[in-house]
Amino acid sequence: MALLPVYDVLERVLNSITELTSEVISIHNALGRIVAEDIISKLTQPPFAASAMDGYAVRFDDIEGPLDVVGESQAGQSFDGILEPGQAVRIFTGAPMVDGADTVVIQEYVIRKDDQIIVNNCTAAGGNIRAAGSDFMAGECLIQAHTKIDARHIALIAAGNVAWFSVYKQSKVAILSTGDELLEVGSDIGPYKIVNSNVPLFMALVIEHGGIPINLGTAKDTVEDVKAKIALVKDVDIFVSIGGVSVGDYDIIQDVLKETGLKVDFWKVAIMPGKPIVYGDFNGIPFFGLPGNPSSAYVCFANFVLPAMYKMQGRDQNSFPVSHARLEHDIKAGSKRLNFMRAIYRENERGEKYVNSTLTQSSANLKTLARSNCLLVRDVGAPPANTGDLVKIIIIAP
Ligand code: AMP
Ligand code: MG
Repeated sequence: MALLPVYDVLERVLNSITELTSEVISIHNALGRIVAEDIISKLTQPPFAASAMDGYAVRFDDIEGPLDVVGESQAGQSFDGILEPGQAVRIFTGAPMVDGADTVVIQEYVIRKDDQIIVNNCTAAGGNIRAAGSDFMAGECLIQAHTKIDARHIALIAAGNVAWFSVYKQSKVAILSTGDELLEVGSDIGPYKIVNSNVPLFMALVIEHGGIPINLGTAKDTVEDVKAKIALVKDVDIFVSIGGVSVGDYDIIQDVLKETGLKVDFWKVAIMPGKPIVYGDFNGIPFFGLPGNPSSAYVCFANFVLPAMYKMQGRDQNSFPVSHARLEHDIKAGSKRLNFMRAIYRENERGEKYVNSTLTQSSANLKTLARSNCLLVRDVGAPPANTGDLVKIIIIAP
């Protein structure tokens, strides 16, 4: 059976995914969340014309001076009264402008003697004033829906006096690993056993990309144990299993899931590392059965599960930035599968990227995965490429 092309499969996955609903949260819990409805300012900023500098509020026509200093306007308070000809008011950054004044002269341009000033440097008419609403207006959209909230957005939303707003719910991702050989990190590892590294990997990926991981633990390669663990899949948005999706005698996950409600959409994709991926609907929950080798698991998760999570959470499907880099070595022709080679890119002082993928490409190798910072994408059937050629990379560790 021909393997299905990665991009066709991704389209099928995304077509089957619907956005999650939204919830209202406090601005103090909003970092990293995705805005569900445009955030509209409740205030005009600045709410009043304010001085942009420490100095003196004056009438520009009087600037030849000397001027009498008749009072003070400080931030949070105002000068009561109207500036008359020949007068100035001491004013500070952020303080309300003084009625009758049209210009602020910075204090460095002023000589003060007792209660009089002389302006001794050129000042533009209307200078150093922040007009009311020069930043934003009440009713203006501060942040558009689908934006991922970062610290700068939080400052803007706070200034608009919006304390609560609506964000997409986080996707809850259930993770089940399978394999008699697996033990949890920190346990005594007996003969022929290995540590489960994929569950910590997937939990971290889910958190990194704004979801909530739910660890269902590890099932032994028996029908009973897999069934018992599957019974724990409740109230989640995505269900991911690791291992047991190939054609070995102990690869039972697909059959057991089918008995309990899985409708398989596809199995086996033209991806490397990876290939034996199962996707389907498990009683209304999108199900991904991913292979167990760590690099395969990572590449499949990044290519299929993350885009699904992103779509659910109201974002476009690009979980990692895509770029181009020049090869540091020759590279052979692409195979029949879209190949995501673990690679290291570096950038020179001119911002040009170079990439090296001479690391071992064994899909069981964890060190290569951890030390690479990008995936070099080799298209199906791509011709051999030479040192200096531009190739596509996906940046996984900026
Ligand atoms: P499988 O996909 O079950 O055939 O597993 C393929 C390889 O990945 C085997 O060498 C497994 O021991 C290994 N493997 C499977 N699951 C995990 C896991 N959760 N953590 C680390 N290695 C795993
Ligand atoms: Mg296994």
